[in-house]
Amino acid sequence: MSDFDEKDIDKKDIDETEKKDGQLTGQADGEKEKEKESDYEDVCFICRRPESKAGKMFKLPNNITVCNDCMHKTMDTVSQFDYQGMLNNPAFMDDLNKNMNGQGFPNIRFVNLSDLQGEGGIPNKQRMKKKKPGKDTEPALDIKNIPPPHKIKAQLDDYVIGQEHAKKVISVAVYNHYKRVATGTMDDIEIEKSNMLMIGPTGCGKTYLVKTLARLLDVPLAIADATSLTEAGYIGDDIESVLSKLLMAADNDAEKAERGIVFIDEIDKIAKKKNTNSRDVSGESVQQGLLRLLEGADVEVPVGANSKNAMVPLTTINTRNILFICGGAFPDLEEIIKQRLTKQTSIGFNAELKDRFDKDKNILSQVTVEDLKKFGMIPEFLGRLPVIYTLAELDKDMMIKILKEPKNAILKQYQKLLELDEVKLEFDEGALEAIAEKAMKKDTGARALRAIIEEFMLDIMYEIPKDDNIGRVTITREYIEGTGGPVIDIRSIGGENPDELKVIEDKSTEQKQ
Ligand code: ADP
Repeated sequence: MSDFDEKDIDKKDIDETEKKDGQLTGQADGEKEKEKESDYEDVCFICRRPESKAGKMFKLPNNITVCNDCMHKTMDTVSQFDYQGMLNNPAFMDDLNKNMNGQGFPNIRFVNLSDLQGEGGIPNKQRMKKKKPGKDTEPALDIKNIPPPHKIKAQLDDYVIGQEHAKKVISVAVYNHYKRVATGTMDDIEIEKSNMLMIGPTGCGKTYLVKTLARLLDVPLAIADATSLTEAGYIGDDIESVLSKLLMAADNDAEKAERGIVFIDEIDKIAKKKNTNSRDVSGESVQQGLLRLLEGADVEVPVGANSKNAMVPLTTINTRNILFICGGAFPDLEEIIKQRLTKQTSIGFNAELKDRFDKDKNILSQVTVEDLKKFGMIPEFLGRLPVIYTLAELDKDMMIKILKEPKNAILKQYQKLLELDEVKLEFDEGALEAIAEKAMKKDTGARALRAIIEEFMLDIMYEIPKDDNIGRVTITREYIEGTGGPVIDIRSIGGENPDELKVIEDKSTEQKQ
């Protein structure tokens, strides 16, 4: 076969593949894909370095890419073998040189199979998003697009009930933070970062507030548990693993991760242990380890894994623009505050004030940095969390509101589900109160609400679809307390029917008989 024929066949093959691609994905989609693709870079299969560090990659079949260095090493090893006759084929040499970027490699032919398979189908898991070169690229967040604090708060109001102070503080802090990020003024005048410390009892909405915020701002969010963090080298997650979580949340896009939010929960669990001689791997040293991240540093982060090892590519993340929010319940902190306050007031002649603070429910809101130091947080750590605020414990009224008011309130969810069966679900005031009272007893905040509702809604969701005649179900206090049943309205009759579910069930069996 002459050279000419060979080229002809190649061209035809390629044309056909292109046609196929076009049919499958559509021309516009194909272009979009290509644009997206160009945002990602290949990673060497052997040394795991990205293309931006290791240079041009060779593409091998099955989407494997290998860097120049690793390819050289491999070739050195195999080049002792003689692949007969290949050197005499001019078309082959041409091809080879193209593959090798003109560097030339004797004896080996590289077939770029991935080209033949078309561009699509390379999973992003095996690739890394390119960092754009230079620092003078446009700011990622346009300052005009950052909503002012009152708008951020208004949006939070749709989801988070109560906690007015916390929502206000967080809105202002986030506004300032992203304004700084967007305008890049951090360099000129060193403005302090707005990292936050949130103090509040369990289930009062700390995590929920941060989650809602990240979703509204459309920034990646990583939630880490301080109890699982240890100093590097010990069993547990490295401190840097919080950044790999963030990178994962940002779809391996380092630039996006660099303006994300990291929420570290249970931060009170890494308080300094008192009177201990053993090495403190999970308390004070974790606080020490976090200092660097909170402040802003370049950190090498494994891509797609929690720990660094030889098989995982690394990328660098700068934490300067990452917003760190720490949260914790800080049990016993109230005692510390009370002690301080009583000391202050008992200087004079008022001993009866001693138990005055016992009744004060909002004692936590009087927290100071000194109290937190006493609790076991190290001063350097607190120094890097300039925004400190507290969330209130949920009371019965707030619980009831949480049940019905947020945009994605749990009751609304069930109502929607039953609506699909054309059944109206209603809760009378007594029922809501009973649910809230039950939840308050569990001492796990709003988290108990879902568990309680799921428990009794199971029967409802099981029984209602049995009977097409049911038009409305009203949940009552008696039903929640187990002393009665829900009120069922039958669609065809339209009037009120005080029968319980069970009675309806009996009727339907009668009908069948
Ligand atoms: P924690 O304070 O322990 O982090 P969470 O934020 O995880 O508690 O709260 C648990 C759940 O309770 C949330 O998923 C949310 O549905 C609900 N919740 C808690 N507080 C509120 C609130 N203030 N407004 C609306 N829902 C809330």
